[in-house]
Amino acid sequence: MQQDPWEMALEQFQRATRYVPLKRGVREFLMYPRRELTVHFPVKMDDGSVRIFTGYRVHHSTVLGPTKGGIRYHPNVTLNEVRALAMWMTWKCAVAGLPYGGAKGGVVCDPKQLSAGELERLTRRYATEISVLMGPESDIPAPDVGTNPQVMAWIMDTYSMHRGYSVPAVVTGKPVSVGGTVGREEATGRGCAIVAREAATMTGLSLEGARVVVQGFGNVGSYAAKLLHEMGARVVALSDSQGGIYRPEGLDPEAVLRHKRQARSVVGFPGTQSVTNAELLELPCDILIPAALEGQIHRENAPRIRARVIVEGANGPTTPEADDILHERGVLVVPDIVANAGGVIVSYFEWVQDLQSFFWDEEEIHRRLERMLVRSFRQVTEVAKVHEVDLRTAALIRAIQRVADALLTLGIYP
Ligand code: NAD
Repeated sequence: MQQDPWEMALEQFQRATRYVPLKRGVREFLMYPRRELTVHFPVKMDDGSVRIFTGYRVHHSTVLGPTKGGIRYHPNVTLNEVRALAMWMTWKCAVAGLPYGGAKGGVVCDPKQLSAGELERLTRRYATEISVLMGPESDIPAPDVGTNPQVMAWIMDTYSMHRGYSVPAVVTGKPVSVGGTVGREEATGRGCAIVAREAATMTGLSLEGARVVVQGFGNVGSYAAKLLHEMGARVVALSDSQGGIYRPEGLDPEAVLRHKRQARSVVGFPGTQSVTNAELLELPCDILIPAALEGQIHRENAPRIRARVIVEGANGPTTPEADDILHERGVLVVPDIVANAGGVIVSYFEWVQDLQSFFWDEEEIHRRLERMLVRSFRQVTEVAKVHEVDLRTAALIRAIQRVADALLTLGIYP
């Protein structure tokens, strides 16, 4: 049975707060989401019927600034999952030094089963339902599992139509043609590759020829695989929801992507051995990048993971019990709130550019992303040394301290 993501997020928080002296009231304030919205809304389907969908938007914290966080379209979305993802966004923004609080949204649906028209109507109605919370100064959504730049464009357009003028800064991860930024689509995967490189250096592992396994060949996983391949690593296994492929001699992620576009899955890529998603995680490798969903590395499979370094592309892929097992076994886990922060960092650049109507070039985006991520990784490793804790606890200590300091400075209203 998979651990509930909200339970996981709370357990991680409680572990870290052992190292951060907080009064009980402050600790509880930081623990609970600030506000949670549940919406049930109708969508006209192509066959003329009407279906009711359920969606959520949760603001975990507004202490550091407006809230930021993706929107997920997936059949298994729950309020507890959205809560956990919103809390992780708070810590992710705080570790990276961004002026944002954490949020997340989701709609219970299977986007693969919807036509383009149904997806657009669902998106525009959901955007309208959550527009009481959303805004360029209050809450700025972005893509997550099952959503993409086109969905962001519909959200921006819906919000803009209600205002009567164009408001590009209300979402990030938009197409460049409507105020998006260059470098956003690949930013999370690029960030994972940068962090993998830093972690490899730290553990004395050469990236040249290092064996990489990626679970989840979507936005995050495909760019991480592609960039690590370009950096000289050997990508030996990849997967998506249909299953995985394995080739110990290495794969060309670009070629796999072309195959996936046609076959709608990585499965069946010529010259590879098929593996299940569970088997994939236990393959011999140097760097493992879980880039699909939560709770994939747990008590049962953690003892069998053979990677030296785990770079969490996904949010919440490792349970707290698995964290302990991996830490004891000397596997370095770079936590999600550091490893996949590239997405929100470049989203921040997009928002800044939209607010100023002044756009940067790709080189500037890459340079600033690299600088912020490397700094954040090194700061977290310093905290880990001081407290003799794993990198997740260290990152949380830094994040919680930052939010708590701001909260105590602001005071409790009224
Ligand atoms: P995506 O929808 O583009 O890709 C998800 C991939 O995972 C797909 O290839 C899908 O087939 C696969 N998948 C789904 N269920 C699976 C399963 N049970 N086993 C193996 N693979 C499975 O989503 P994404 O944007 O790449 O997000 C992936 C993860 O990264 C999520 O945890 C998300 O929260 C996190 N993340 C995304 C971003 C971003 O900018 N997109 C930023 C930070 C974190």
